[in-house]
This record gives sequence, structure tokens and C-alpha cells, in this order.
Amino acid sequence: MKKTVRVRFAPSPTGPLHIGGVRTALYNYLFARRHGGTMILRIEDTDSTRYVPGAEEYIFEALRWSGILIDEGVEQGGPHAPYRQSQRREIYLRYAKQLVASNNAYYAFDTPQQLETLRKECEARGESFAYNHAVREKMDNSLSLSPEQVSERIERGDGWVIRFRMPAAEQICMHDLIRGEVTVDSATLDDKVLYKSADNLPTYHLANIVDDHLMEISHVIRGEEWLPSLPLHYMLYKALGWSDTQPEFAHLPLILKPAGQGKLSKRDGDKMGFPVFPLLWQSPEGEVARGYREDGYLPAAFVNMLALLGWNPGTEQELFSMEELIEAFSLERVGKNGARFSPDKARWFNAQYIHHMDDTALGELLVPIVREHGFQVDIALASRIAALIKERATLLGDLWELCRYLFVAPEEYDRATREKYWKGDNPALIADLTVNVLERLESFSTPQIEDAIHHWLEEGGHNMGQVMNTLRLTITGANRSPSLYDICDILGRDETLARIRRALATLGEG
Ligand code: GLU
Repeated sequence: MKKTVRVRFAPSPTGPLHIGGVRTALYNYLFARRHGGTMILRIEDTDSTRYVPGAEEYIFEALRWSGILIDEGVEQGGPHAPYRQSQRREIYLRYAKQLVASNNAYYAFDTPQQLETLRKECEARGESFAYNHAVREKMDNSLSLSPEQVSERIERGDGWVIRFRMPAAEQICMHDLIRGEVTVDSATLDDKVLYKSADNLPTYHLANIVDDHLMEISHVIRGEEWLPSLPLHYMLYKALGWSDTQPEFAHLPLILKPAGQGKLSKRDGDKMGFPVFPLLWQSPEGEVARGYREDGYLPAAFVNMLALLGWNPGTEQELFSMEELIEAFSLERVGKNGARFSPDKARWFNAQYIHHMDDTALGELLVPIVREHGFQVDIALASRIAALIKERATLLGDLWELCRYLFVAPEEYDRATREKYWKGDNPALIADLTVNVLERLESFSTPQIEDAIHHWLEEGGHNMGQVMNTLRLTITGANRSPSLYDICDILGRDETLARIRRALATLGEG
């Protein structure tokens, strides 16, 4: 690739960022890093009616949490600042006027009511209304009015918009890095609004093209919902005289519902119990939507899962660190077809990451979790506990339940386990083991406890499974746990013995 790679993620702050948006940002980021390029974050907030307070901060936070680093943007600044479109109004108006001057655009004064009436009339005839080459000469605009009339109406404060003058018959040939050649007949396209006097703001199309040009964007990597806008974007580049330097385009496939048809939506998540947003979101109206972070996903697992929704590495490898993704990523391996989202696969990725996580790193996450439940634990112990329980965790939220018994003595004993093991010789054997082995141990640590119990089991010819499961019941109250020797070691002699004695007293003779 010869040209300098400069890509942008250009979200509109209209609500929480969907995971599809995070994936778009991720692919841009991987592409930028892969080619030693620059990653830009531009906030496209020109639709004032859809602006949602808090959405911009949410986007920044979601990208930070995902490990998607921005080189130039609203927070970082950069040579093309400002990176928030609402602060660049004058720039867009200048280009909108340039398009009018070159006869590629025109002022239109038709009021929303007039347009609505036309729309209704068309509908009554079973047609749909399009403001296009067929009707534009007959509408209330600078194509039908004299220059004097136009100036007069603008001066007296009539509302206006600037519309693009889409050619009546031109084959627009486009190239998409994922989809190949696409051709569209301009006759099928309408004259889109580029600028509105009502709020003195451009529409998405104009602002997007002007900024991509001024910010020297080399590749536009975005969701496939923008593919229908591509012909207009091509025509805008042409009309502005920028075709030679226009970016290359790659339209990413949709993320589909778990059932396969249609775009993954918040409703799917609500129905099936999984988040479709990276972070928890609370709308200004107080509506809450769950997020991957708060649901106990690790950012690296989340990113790994997203990366494989639409891109495939061409190998069997499924687990990729960010560095490995950067190394392996290419647009050629992004599919054309939608990628089906699987909540189970998302959980699987997270489980893999927890299982493979370094004990100390997981211990660090465990310390605050334990503290939240009212207990103190130092990092050394938390790391030991992490090592013991991580194999069994899927979400970070599982960790507390998996280690709770190390902090809280059993308040009750699992019924089925009790019925299965608290009978026959077992209670007496536990009493014997306690008095004759555990109480006498000089050092109460894993290898000594293990040796002593094994020795006693062998000498007495006792059944290991029966004894260990019964002992586990007394110490944890449950039927499953990691190594009981480690648990005894962590609990310490006093607590271990107190728990066994309490069980012997509470559960009786069996
Ligand atoms: N502001 C658009 C969005 O919200 C950007 C589309 C594009 O990348 O061109 O997705």
C-alpha cells in the first residue's frame, strides 16, 4: 500500500454505541495499526434533532475500555482540529456555496408543508415523491427563480436548504474493497439536502465528504448501511473536484441476530439476556441498557469476539490478542455476508480469557470484588484464590460465588451432597481424621495436609472419594470445589477445624 493510511471512526452521538459500531472502530484501528497509519475519531453531531447528551462521553469511554486507541480526535486534538462537526459549520457552508456556484447544487425554498402536500398527492396516485431531476425545475428553488429573486428571499429571511443537483443520467461506477465494482444509475437518485438554514448545519453527506477530504482520509471503513449513500458521495467528490484524492471505501457486513435474519438489535439482547452495548448505558430519560463491561466481560475477550464477527483469519486460530489481530488483519478477509452473533460464543471467549489469565492479573480484579462483599484480601492471597477458581469462571461476576466459601463459613449444607455422603461411617471417619490427623499437624499447609490425609486413608483402608466428599461438605457446604488441601491451607487451621466441628455438631451422626 503506497499511500499514507489515515482512517476515521465517525460516530454520531445519538445514543449508546452498538457493538456493531465498536466493531467498525476496531476494524479501522486494526487497519491503521497494520499499515502504520493514523486513527482518527470524528464526532458527527450535525443532526441536532438526534443529539443525546452523554452519548459522546460514552463513545470515548467505550473505545478506551476496548483498547481502541485514538491518535487524532476530540480529546486528543490534532492537525485538523476541531474534530467535532458542530464546531466546523463555516467550513461546510463555504463548500455548499461553492457547489451552488459551480451549478452542482441549488437553493430550495420549498417548505416542509409544501413537500408534505406533494408527498401525499403522489401517494394518492400510488407513486412515491422524489425531489429529483424530473421535478426540480418545477419546484420553488434557484433553478426556477431568477438570481435576484433568490437573493431577495434569502435576505428577507425565508428558510432555505441547499440541494445537490444529481445528474439526470449518469452511470456511477464505484469500487468497494469488500464488494468490488458497484454501478448505480443516477436517474434513480434524488437531490439530497446538503445544508439547512434552519439550524445552520450541513447534513451528514456534505459534512462527511468535506471532512474526509480535509482530514486526508485514505480509507473509509464503515457499516454496510452506508452503501446506499456511496453514489452520492462519489458524485460529491466529483463535483468538488476531489475525485483524484478521494478515499477508498470498504463497507462492512452487518452483525446479524443469533437466529440469522436481520440486524442484531437491543430487543434481541433483552429477549435472550445478553448485552448489545459495550458499557452499561443510562439514557437521559433513565432507561438502562446492559453492557459487556458491567456484565463481567474482559475487554480483550470482547474485542477478540468482535474481531471474528465479519473477519476470518484464514486459519483455525480463534484466540487473538490485540497485537495478533493487528498482525493478522486485512480487509480482503472481511466477508460480504452478515456475521451471525452468538451469545454462547461471546461467553466462550470470555471463559477462555479468564482461564488463560495470569493469576496476579486476575487476583487484582478479585481484590475489589471481595472487598465489595465486605472482606479484605491482599494481592498474594487473591492471586492464589484466582489460580484455584479461574477454570470454573465464565464471567467476572462468577468469581465471587466461586470463592465465597473461603470468606463465609457454610450457613447450610447442600442437601443432595448431605444425603449422599453424611451417612454410614463417614461422619465418624471425619471425626477421627480431625482429632487424629488434622489437629495434630505441625504445619497446616497444602503438601502437609495432603500427605497426612493420604497416609491416614491408606493406613485405614478408607475410601478416598467418600472421605474427601464428606470433608468437602463440612468445609464448603457444597459438593464441588477446587483442591480441598489448598482450601484448608487458605482457610488456616483454626477456621478449617472450626468448620469441621460445626458440621459434626450440626449434621449429627448421619
Ligand atoms: N456518522 C455516521 C455514523 O453514524 C458515519 C458514517 C461514515 O462512517 O461515513 O455511522
